[in-house]
Amino acid sequence: MSNRRRFVKFSLLSGAALLAGKNLFAKADKGDKKYNTIKDEPVVISTWDFGKVANAGAWDILKKGGRALDAVEAGVMIPEADPKNQSVGLGGRPDRDGRVTLDACIMDENYRCGSVAALEHVVHAISVARMVMEKTPHVMLVGDGATQFALANGFKKENLLTPKSEGEWKDWLKTSKYAPQKNIENVLPGGEFNHDTIGMVAMDKSGNLSGACTTSGMAYKMHGRVGDSPIIGAGLYVDNEIGAATSTGVGEEVIRIVGSHLVVELMRQGLEPEDACKRAVERIISRNPEMAKQVQVGFLALNKSGAYGAYALQKGFSYSVRSGKVEEVFQSKYFYEEPQK
Ligand code: ASP
Repeated sequence: MSNRRRFVKFSLLSGAALLAGKNLFAKADKGDKKYNTIKDEPVVISTWDFGKVANAGAWDILKKGGRALDAVEAGVMIPEADPKNQSVGLGGRPDRDGRVTLDACIMDENYRCGSVAALEHVVHAISVARMVMEKTPHVMLVGDGATQFALANGFKKENLLTPKSEGEWKDWLKTSKYAPQKNIENVLPGGEFNHDTIGMVAMDKSGNLSGACTTSGMAYKMHGRVGDSPIIGAGLYVDNEIGAATSTGVGEEVIRIVGSHLVVELMRQGLEPEDACKRAVERIISRNPEMAKQVQVGFLALNKSGAYGAYALQKGFSYSVRSGKVEEVFQSKYFYEEPQK
């Protein structure tokens, strides 16, 4: 069935079918259903193929019996420090004013969480988020307050704008209007999505879960814009009784449905991780169908039994898994075959 026909079908039938509790999207699924589970051993999963390198850092801790919280922090610090990764930390693409502003959050097995948004000049946003969690009575610090807190606590002040990201931003300024425009960031001319984030969830030897999420956000966003990634419940959620989830993609769409919390709650109701992620994607489509056709959002989840899965709006979302037996990058299932015009 064509995407258009599938979408029309959805529009016409969604109300009735949702009332009847039916899953309208079953036929839109690509590929065979297959649940993956890592039994009785630590596991770490993270967004995108660059998650593979990040997972290796987390795995060094998990394989020695270390805590999932330490593992996810160490794991995501790897892309944060990599200037070649232009979606996270050092070298991240700047906002419209040429400022690199970072968003990150972290959550442990005891429902403790910390977050920073619009942090500047500090590479390891995730460690600042952890410090907010561990050393303050708060969950979230933003903007100058977050930066001041980091610098006052020993984090080094650095210029995060690399010559490559600066050059690309200047090119973007030449051809792009300096005004908020829907979706201008989302799809590059070749159809490639101009954003990424590292979201990572892990289970340790004790069976405890933790998660971390860190990003420089949407490229060329308005100064002060905050996405889903530092928002507990949107970009990341961990419930040690049930499972953990994280997201990547256009944060506004994830925030609207409180995506990662939704995925965890769906797992609480008994859904497998992949099905929970798929339902969250369907929720985005049902809430904002026109927008959903044009943007990318991907969810990734791990449950307490070691089952994991992902689902995305569009083709192209990958995720990386690491355990004692598995070290692999998987292509997520997705709803739309190609970005819709
Ligand atoms: N979720 C991030 C944000 O909206 C961006 C991304 O994952 O690409 O800031």
